Amino acid sequence: MSPERTKLATVTDAVIVGAGPVGLFQVFELGLLGLRAELIDSLPVIGGQCTELYPDKPIYDIPAIPVCTARELIERLAEQIRPFSAGLHLGQEVTSVQKREDGRFDVETSRGARFDAGAVIIAGGVGSFQPRRLAVPGADAHEGTAIHYRVKDAEHFRGRDLVILGGGDSALDWTLALAETAHSVVLVHRRPEFRAAPASVERMHALREAGRIDHLEGQVQSLIEDGGALRGVRVATRDGLTRSVSLEHLLIFWGLHPKLGPIANWGLTLHRKTIPVDTARFQTNVPGVFAIGDINDYPGKKKLILSGFHEAALTAFAVREHLRPGEKVHLQYTTTSPVLQKRLGVGTASPDHDVPDAARTQAKAAAP
Ligand code: FAD
Repeated sequence: MSPERTKLATVTDAVIVGAGPVGLFQVFELGLLGLRAELIDSLPVIGGQCTELYPDKPIYDIPAIPVCTARELIERLAEQIRPFSAGLHLGQEVTSVQKREDGRFDVETSRGARFDAGAVIIAGGVGSFQPRRLAVPGADAHEGTAIHYRVKDAEHFRGRDLVILGGGDSALDWTLALAETAHSVVLVHRRPEFRAAPASVERMHALREAGRIDHLEGQVQSLIEDGGALRGVRVATRDGLTRSVSLEHLLIFWGLHPKLGPIANWGLTLHRKTIPVDTARFQTNVPGVFAIGDINDYPGKKKLILSGFHEAALTAFAVREHLRPGEKVHLQYTTTSPVLQKRLGVGTASPDHDVPDAARTQAKAAAP
């Protein structure tokens, strides 16, 4: 490895691939054992499936929480791991994991972030979520300029002519929100039925009747371009006609689909898009690479958040053993252990988690 790469890489005890509920809880379990983590997710927000697929649905099977929404669960996890100040790197996919000769790992993301990690924990769920893209010629060239799969800043669309594609909650929510500020909004959905909340659909119809938005039942057939700029779309409507709709921005909300993606190229044994692990350490076939949550596989595996939490606890001990072989780790209770309370920042002394692992080990070696 070149000296430049070493200089740029963030040195850490562990990189966690995936900031779903299980990846988040892994930060906590590592933190209790005095280990630092960097958390990476391809999505721009934490929470994995909970945030992307069912944020407002109630969950009833989290121990000691009789009911909470998926969004609340993620908020609580975020609060619980705050004392450990894990680095959070969102909106970037982990593209490469390579084991070095010294046993550590070089990890890289799609945005060029680099990590030098003692261990890698894959909490990638069903894979990294990708937007369902518009498959008409030329669409890729406009992505990020005139074609958008996500709204980063609603102000960007103020006073503009917009076409929105989709019939789910995101499509309807943005139609209602942007109708307030855009110059024009046309919602295009291929069916008369919508998957969005009935109240949103009702409001959309009311806006349409008031002439504030337009709504077409049909599918985009092709783009209308002029000098390289996107000017409109041709929509094949259900009555068999093709209508040209002019626009400045095309927003597409067709949902997300999971893709195992680059994880398949890291030299790991795979079984039907999952990663086999042992049930004592949750280690993969590559020593130092662990897999927890929905992405792993072992006899009796159940894809539940609860199972992922248990796996995270045991993995933390396994990672600690991997990083400091032979060093005894005593099981301690958060209720009574001053060391754990110090790490949690609830004891009287300040937490020691910001002392680099190597420095801590040296300090210990130097102690009488
Ligand atoms: P995920 O939540 O899938 O998160 C994985 C994350 O990894 C994603 O954010 C993804 O973007 C990221 N990722 C993947 N690959 C990469 C990469 N290469 N680079 C960067 N990031 C990457 N479970 C329960 O226990 N109780 C319930 O009531 C319940 N209800 C559910 C309801 C629905 C509708 C659904 C769909 C699931 C439900 N589940 C429930 C299942 C539960 O959501 C999953 O078990 C849980 O989300 C798994 O967590 P995870 O952290 O392993 O993975």
